Amino acid sequence: MEKIILSFLFLCFFSNIAFAKAYFADKEKMILKSDFIAIVNITNVIFIETDKQYRNQEANASVNKILKGNTENNITFFVPCFFPCAVASVKKGPYIVFLKHEKNKLSGVNWGLSYRPIKNNKVEWYSNEDTLKLEEKDFVEVIEDITEVIEKQKNRNNLAAEERIDRTTGRSDVCELHKVHMQKVKVTIVYGLPPASDEEERKYFDAKKEFFPNANLGKVEGGCMPSLQKKTNIYVCPRCEKERKSWLKTTGATEPHRYRPPQK
Ligand SMILES: [Zn+2]
Repeated sequence: MEKIILSFLFLCFFSNIAFAKAYFADKEKMILKSDFIAIVNITNVIFIETDKQYRNQEANASVNKILKGNTENNITFFVPCFFPCAVASVKKGPYIVFLKHEKNKLSGVNWGLSYRPIKNNKVEWYSNEDTLKLEEKDFVEVIEDITEVIEKQKNRNNLAAEERIDRTTGRSDVCELHKVHMQKVKVTIVYGLPPASDEEERKYFDAKKEFFPNANLGKVEGGCMPSLQKKTNIYVCPRCEKERKSWLKTTGATEPHRYRPPQK
């Protein structure tokens, strides 16, 4: 028995580290995974499944402002406690909540960070774009930030949905620059948020626009929402490919790491 407890504690200790590294979603992921984001006022909290060592909660809340999801005036959501690694709990009062529909229930998308209490018009929020580090921020500022991310993700997904399936459909197979026939090439679709371009990448894409618009980048962006489709066709121009290679040679530039086509 002692052994079991020990190994359990051991597991828990390490999974805590793993939680921090692998499970807690950053701002963009948390917003993307949420079906429902709102400013709510929690009016009642009950503990459920009290037979267990840990106690999950169920909260009732009135909805003050919806940022993402369906119109609902009152919601009930589940607050799993995740004992003993990531204890989460809520109290009565104003919160921003990040919830998803799961098994006919609403529950948090990001462990304890799914329920963020609003205190004195402040709320804990990400200190900058690429971090999980939190700091107290002005509540209005946070709402603006969330709204902006939601809009950005919506636009990106609309674009991606239109372009999915086959990217050669409805397009001419003649290169607009070199006026030669292009070949259909199968490339991988990469889903998720692409990291911001660095200088090397911007330089490469500027040159691409001007000298080799239909060169093979080896992959295409598929937007945030992963789909089952892993590959798509694109048109690749043989002259653009030549131009790309000679541009790399004459400028001494390298291809951005993420867009290196497969070497033959
Ligand atoms: Zn071309």
